[in-house]
Amino acid sequence: MGAAFLQALRACLGDSNVLVDGDLDAYQVDWRKRYRGRALAVARPSCTDEVAAVVRLCATHGVPIVPQGGNTGLVGGGVPDASGDQLLLSLSRMRRVRAVDPDNLTATVEAGCVLQALQDEAEAHDLLFPLRLGSEGSCTIGGNLASNAGGTQVLRYGNARELCLGLEVVTASGEVWHGLSGLRKDNTGYDLRDLFIGSEGTLGIITAATMKLFPRPAASLVALAACPDIDGVLGLLRIARKRLDAGLTGFELIERFAMGLVARHLPQLRQPLPGAPWTALLELSAECEGVAGQRLEGVLAEASEQGLLSDAVVSASAAQASELWQLRESIPSAQASEGLNIKHDIGLPVSAIPGFLREVLASLQVEVPGLRPVLFGHLGDGNLHFNLQAPEGMAPDAFLHQYEARLNALVYDAVLARGGTFSAEHGIGALKVAELAARKSPVALAMMRAVKRALDPQCLLNPGRLLAMQ
Ligand code: FAD
Repeated sequence: MGAAFLQALRACLGDSNVLVDGDLDAYQVDWRKRYRGRALAVARPSCTDEVAAVVRLCATHGVPIVPQGGNTGLVGGGVPDASGDQLLLSLSRMRRVRAVDPDNLTATVEAGCVLQALQDEAEAHDLLFPLRLGSEGSCTIGGNLASNAGGTQVLRYGNARELCLGLEVVTASGEVWHGLSGLRKDNTGYDLRDLFIGSEGTLGIITAATMKLFPRPAASLVALAACPDIDGVLGLLRIARKRLDAGLTGFELIERFAMGLVARHLPQLRQPLPGAPWTALLELSAECEGVAGQRLEGVLAEASEQGLLSDAVVSASAAQASELWQLRESIPSAQASEGLNIKHDIGLPVSAIPGFLREVLASLQVEVPGLRPVLFGHLGDGNLHFNLQAPEGMAPDAFLHQYEARLNALVYDAVLARGGTFSAEHGIGALKVAELAARKSPVALAMMRAVKRALDPQCLLNPGRLLAMQ
């Protein structure tokens, strides 16, 4: 069966776009190097019709498909398992910008279009595509939509779902759903677009999308503020929201140990507030720099009068603003250099965060003395990256093996007790399948399985990811 399938695949895509030999690590190993798989082959179609033909071939031969964009996902959903039976379908050759409509404020791009390329395209039209992630130089619009990515601008512009107006999707049977649309209003039945967004490749292959664009803000400024405690950070957020309203485009949190990892592994980056217990990063957009500066100074002055912060710096140029952002965006690679850790991408009502942190940080130290939490995230929308690094001197692998299940239970119980979620923006992938099966309500799971069975009856699209079928 394998040989006949590969022969048909080569006939469909050409020999050079069916990879079976050589170093395939870029496709088979995830960004964190936690998941290492082995694909039957890597297929690299160049257009929607080729994707549809490959999917039909897989349906005929019963070959499971793992779609992949930029392979920057953090939950192991985009790499094959170790069976050698799964076809890795890379969208990386489908990166065309099909159209930009400046009056409708939309861009239609192929799924493999790298996020940064769409940002650049928007800028070339003096417009903004506001999705912003640390991985934007490699991740793709298809991957962003399949995982409903969040990032640093959700506070103002929403996540990938809210930025998408229409999709083109290859279904599990190899048909093409032409759902590309630039409409902001269309109440014609079930929202199929929203079904595919966040489905992590388990319901269909996204081949193109129409995304929203926005007017570019004339000016934006960034501030870093040192706060003595988490209540101070929340107080600062409250003031920033009140004074800046929609002008507040980002509000990030960085705890001292996370900032320390950046200092240790990326010493070339200047640290303007070294040793701060908690650092908040605020981004403000406004109609001109003068106004932005005045508003930001007003926020910082009010917070300082209330004792919520001890020190702050404000960017004086675009280069300085990007240096401040770099501190925040370097945390994932700094912690990767420190070794594998236990990742928690949690979401909580913002008001519940101080109580959660106080209780859980204390319990964790009782459970594993010397544990090193790496805390940072998108505080403005209640999303924390609450990662746990092994105590100094303990091997990361041994730490994960011994403690991961126990610490996950401790953290997720506390999150759910406060009305939170155990996956705010990274998705479920392979990492959290058991968690979803155990923690989602039976009613929700039954509906999700019914949708999966209806759209992918052979269960060939990214099997084993997101949803356990029993
Ligand atoms: P991949 O990793 O290739 O795939 C992700 C999932 O989508 C897989 O399940 C895959 O099967 C599926 N998929 C991919 N393409 C398609 C398609 N065309 N059709 C159907 N299914 C598909 N995420 C955030 O949300 N916010 C952040 O701030 C953030 N910061 C990050 C910073 C760094 C340094 C890194 C490495 C990652 C970060 N991520 C973040 C995670 C990751 O970048 C996002 O999840 C991103 O959206 C994944 O895009 P990708 O193209 O790399 O997808």
